[in-house]
Amino acid sequence: MLFDLHCHTTASDGALAPAELLARALDSGVSCIAITDHDTLEAYRKLGDFCSAGIALCHGIELSATWQGRSVHIVGLNLRLGCDGLQQALVTQRQSRLLRAEIIAKRLAQKGIRDALEGATAIAGNGMIGRPHFAKFLVASGKVRDEQQAFRRYLGQGKPGDVESGWPSVATVTAWIREAGGTAVLAHPGHYRMTNSKLGVLADEFVQAGGTAMEVVSGRQAPVLTRKLADLASAKKLLASTGSDFHRPGPAWSELGRQSALPADVSPVWDSW
Ligand code: AMP
Ligand code: MN
Ligand code: MN
Ligand code: MN
Repeated sequence: MLFDLHCHTTASDGALAPAELLARALDSGVSCIAITDHDTLEAYRKLGDFCSAGIALCHGIELSATWQGRSVHIVGLNLRLGCDGLQQALVTQRQSRLLRAEIIAKRLAQKGIRDALEGATAIAGNGMIGRPHFAKFLVASGKVRDEQQAFRRYLGQGKPGDVESGWPSVATVTAWIREAGGTAVLAHPGHYRMTNSKLGVLADEFVQAGGTAMEVVSGRQAPVLTRKLADLASAKKLLASTGSDFHRPGPAWSELGRQSALPADVSPVWDSW
């Protein structure tokens, strides 16, 4: 079985429509996939009854949360899509994203960049708006060379478009996932630029909140990081998840299902299902 438990579609900041993504995953030999769009389950509504023979669909999401003043992501897996509490929570997450987009646009305007809200909104289409849509707008309007530069100059940590977030706490987000019968997974701990001790505190608080797994592998990551995260998962008695965090074809992201393998000494999250 080849698992990919983290990837994105046009319902958030991915390039492929949900059905296209499933077809590509099947081509890549993935046998179980979780679509985990940012703060939305819209991909599952778009898929409807669509099912692709040969691939199991695990209902997932990537939720934005705040911990000690910075954004962290919590993936939810095996969710009951019809859960009222979760659906309500996603209404507030959408409002937070729209509000944040307005603030980002205002801050860009202060830097002399006009019409960013309209531009990013048009690029997001029906998808959940996020910083990548602003990055695409900045590229299209010639302000930066590429999306990387957009994040380095305008959107990344400490830059004007990095809004001190109005996201809910890790405990709140984890509770939403549990209410929907899901498994809460601390996403890509290697992305947070935290010291090991700080990461340990985050993991402790996550466990206390009812989190039971973490991504030991996320996309293409260095073997030394995989080892460190496997040790952290073992120390905190967290199950291990794995995902490509695929957003679009091309060199910027791992291909679906092509993230490195989980180390043999961790307990895969799917063993608990
Ligand atoms: P948001 O959820 O709106 O805060 O945006 C976060 C998303 O931005 C991530 O899921 C990535 O898709 C993208 N992202 C974050 N940092 C970078 C970067 N340095 N270069 C390109 N994309 C990035
Ligand atoms: Mn993304
Ligand atoms: Mn993420
Ligand atoms: Mn992601």
